[in-house]
Amino acid sequence: MTEHREQTVVADAIDRLIDSYPPATTEAKVFWGAQFDAGLAWVDFPEGHGGLGVSPKHREMVQRHLVEADAPTWNRTANVLGIGMGAGVLAAHGTDEQRMRWLRPMFTMDDIWCQLFSEPGAGSDVAGLSTRAERDGDEWIVNGQKVWTTLAHLAKWGLLVTRTDPDQPKHKGMTYFVVDMEAEGVEILPLYQITGEAEFNEVFFSDTRIPDDQRIDDVGAGWRVAMTTLMNERVAIGGNPVPRNHGAIGVAMDTWASSGTGDQATRRELVRLWGEVEAMRLTTLRASENMKAGVPGPEGSTGKLAWADLNKEVTSFTVSMLGLEGATIPEGYALEATTYDTREIERVMSPQRHFLRSRANSIEGGTSEIMRNILGERVLGLPGEPRVDKDLPWKEVPRG
Ligand SMILES: Cc1cc2nc3c(=O)[nH]c(=O)nc-3n(C[C@H](O)[C@H](O)[C@H](O)COP(=O)(O)OP(=O)(O)OC[C@H]3O[C@@H](n4cnc5c(N)ncnc54)[C@H](O)[C@@H]3O)c2cc1C
Repeated sequence: MTEHREQTVVADAIDRLIDSYPPATTEAKVFWGAQFDAGLAWVDFPEGHGGLGVSPKHREMVQRHLVEADAPTWNRTANVLGIGMGAGVLAAHGTDEQRMRWLRPMFTMDDIWCQLFSEPGAGSDVAGLSTRAERDGDEWIVNGQKVWTTLAHLAKWGLLVTRTDPDQPKHKGMTYFVVDMEAEGVEILPLYQITGEAEFNEVFFSDTRIPDDQRIDDVGAGWRVAMTTLMNERVAIGGNPVPRNHGAIGVAMDTWASSGTGDQATRRELVRLWGEVEAMRLTTLRASENMKAGVPGPEGSTGKLAWADLNKEVTSFTVSMLGLEGATIPEGYALEATTYDTREIERVMSPQRHFLRSRANSIEGGTSEIMRNILGERVLGLPGEPRVDKDLPWKEVPRG
């Protein structure tokens, strides 16, 4: 299909969706189901799997038109580990049966997803992980601990990387599964953040059984699938262009307007930040054109790195405009588990809380130091870091 033809196909599908399911009178879940069936969940995925088999560059057009039509789109952020990452993994590595089983309820938010990669001894170096999976007939038995698992307390399914062959070097002996978070032997404990919320958790697996048909890709291919997940994560975090004047810069503009801060320096700073956010938004749009279905390239790290710094800068600026008021959280500080309704969070989350939450941006989804390493090595072609344990069997690598 030519680009022009693809555009027409997508535009027609959007019009039909909005005509048949008017956003103002359609319940959100019904709308998302219809959006999936119309191929407008991830336009680049094959037909029947939430897509139309066109270029991923048209994703932005769908998002833009749906926002303009006031259609519900908050499932993307509320189920970001599924829609932003799990979907890409299933598109690139899943079987047809797995895609049929998981993609639709993921998009409609009937199933929330989480990502079980980080462990107490393996964060940046996720390939060093220790959670074991041992085969037992048609099942696998999992034992170990994960940490910082966002939304595990609400999730039905988890993207899990495990060690299946400790005799292999660390990148080679891993296998990837989708785990039922309600299965026996899964224990989830909340971890509280600086904002007061428990958005993430510790997760313990004790003889948890996973059927082999929930394995993603081959035994031993876990690192390959993990890389697809992480590339998608960087795009989901930093590469998802919000419409112009939305997100943190929108909050900064509103705060500026309502604070009555008339001085030149503040206005100049706001305009400078607006320019940077807009340049970032346009760069992200351009980068999304290079993306193949389900597998973004290492350049996704550029967006993640730049966004983390910029988001922190913009939220700091907003809080500074509030003066002394910026030092307190107006809605109060209470320890509570995160709800999945991000519309509610957006409504109640003050700029002060946004500021605190943004501190995590340069850690979650890979730290900014790791983003710089990836860009240096995989985009700029600079010499790699020394990796002395690369070819050693995992069980011989010293661990803290
Ligand atoms: C809000 C939030 C949500 C998260 N959600 C999830 C989730 O859902 N699932 C999940 O699996 N994980 C999640 N994480 C964990 C996150 O992926 C890890 O925190 C991150 O990868 C860093 O790992 P670490 O915390 O073990 O730090 P470490 O890897 O121990 O790093 C400590 C410091 O050393 C630096 N460092 C480490 N290695 C290098 C290197 N080679 N070169 C230069 N500097 C280096 C790091 O940049 C960092 O500053 C979340 C984290 C946060 C903050």
